[in-house]
Amino acid sequence: MSKQHVPIKKNDEIDVIFEDLTHDGKGVAKVDGYPLFVENALPGEKAKIRVTKLNKGYGFGQMIELDEKSEFRITPACPIFAECGGCQLQHISYEGQLKAKEKQVRDVLERIGKLENVIVHPVLGMENPWHYRNKAQVPIGEREGGLVGGFYKQRSHEIVDMEACLIQQEENDDVLQKVKAICGDLGIRAYNEKTHKGTLRHIMVRSGKVTGEMMVVLITRTPDIPNRKKLVERIVNEVPGLKSVVQNVNTKRTNVIFGKQTNVLWGEEFIYDYIGDVKFAISARSFYQVNPEQTKVLYDKALEYAGLGGEETVIDAYCGIGTISLFLAQRAKKVYGVEIVPEAIEDARRNAELNDITNVEFEVGEAEKVIPRWYEQGVKADVLVVDPPRKGCDETLLQTITDMKPEKVVYVSCNPATLARDLRVLEDGGYETVQVQPVDMFPQSVHVEAVALLQRETI
Ligand code: SAH
Repeated sequence: MSKQHVPIKKNDEIDVIFEDLTHDGKGVAKVDGYPLFVENALPGEKAKIRVTKLNKGYGFGQMIELDEKSEFRITPACPIFAECGGCQLQHISYEGQLKAKEKQVRDVLERIGKLENVIVHPVLGMENPWHYRNKAQVPIGEREGGLVGGFYKQRSHEIVDMEACLIQQEENDDVLQKVKAICGDLGIRAYNEKTHKGTLRHIMVRSGKVTGEMMVVLITRTPDIPNRKKLVERIVNEVPGLKSVVQNVNTKRTNVIFGKQTNVLWGEEFIYDYIGDVKFAISARSFYQVNPEQTKVLYDKALEYAGLGGEETVIDAYCGIGTISLFLAQRAKKVYGVEIVPEAIEDARRNAELNDITNVEFEVGEAEKVIPRWYEQGVKADVLVVDPPRKGCDETLLQTITDMKPEKVVYVSCNPATLARDLRVLEDGGYETVQVQPVDMFPQSVHVEAVALLQRETI
């Protein structure tokens, strides 16, 4: 196919067979090699579609009629699946989701990383792929005088009320409904984006999966909350076992949820949870993995790949609140963690202390600046772990890794495309990708995490 040749026209109605799924869950069909992306279409399915948009190298279509269904197609369990957009794969059975994610990782490693025959294991999924999230966070609005909380209708700022979310821990949903009702009862007005008036912007509920501890966070426009005393009293009385009620004040006209000021209204500043044996303190603003059960699966794999015997020096780049560092510290001589967000490093240090882990050192800064400096100062890692954000590792960091030559690199990734790109650089720099283990941290969604083990080639 020549680059300019587009074999179809807008509004054409054509019969296609879908071959693949994009990373954002659309079906891919090809017409003379020209790819068309269609929502709600699965590999193997035959359908009549209407062409809706044509770009140079690819186009979009809309399903008119599904002629042959995939064996993995199911009816979405959630009644608001299509409207909400929070999950993208509920129309695929869980088995089908795991297969699709495995294929996605393998394909991208081949296509972008030019890595042939890398071992990609079947995705480690959840036994029950529902009700896994430990944090619920909803915007609050008003309808006919009452409060509603849920999600923004797609491409709008209208809030759709939601009573339950199937990937949310059920207790979180219950508490959210209760708090919403209490606020409504007491006449607390929802924040109005247009007029910048009203009080309550968001409600957040966090809970510890293992400990069962719960925190309610009220995000308000003003430091004052009408009826505050009564409100807190009722929340505490009506939510048994609550540990903490916190207010966060966001005075700005902004889509950003949190403001600068956080006040404890009742109870503790922190709730606690465990991943494996490691205890974590979680404040209203702390980053904490939303699916701790699968986080353990992922980090256990990282630990296994690190293959520590107790005498190693380890670097954990992009360490966040130190989850991986603290995991590894139990089996290493010394762990160095670096992270760009100062509050996360404060949490990491607090968590080290909480667990009496003394062989870790955390520093605030950019991994690509701090690690080269450590290297100059004589720190040489035996194992280097990276867990970068979606954009992957900085080039300077990859260069430092190939200079420092740690025996092993363990790459934890939330984006297979940048993982593939970075593995290619490390391969060219003297490493071999031994194996890759995808882990399903977010069932029903398109996200896929993977951990890769790289070994320094011995020549
Ligand atoms: N392993 C961590 C999570 C890693 S998520 C945990 O369990 O908590 C990626 C982290 O990289 C985020 O915390 C983000 O703040 C941090 N980050 C982003 N860019 C960075 C950079 N250039 N240098 C160091 N950290 C960075």
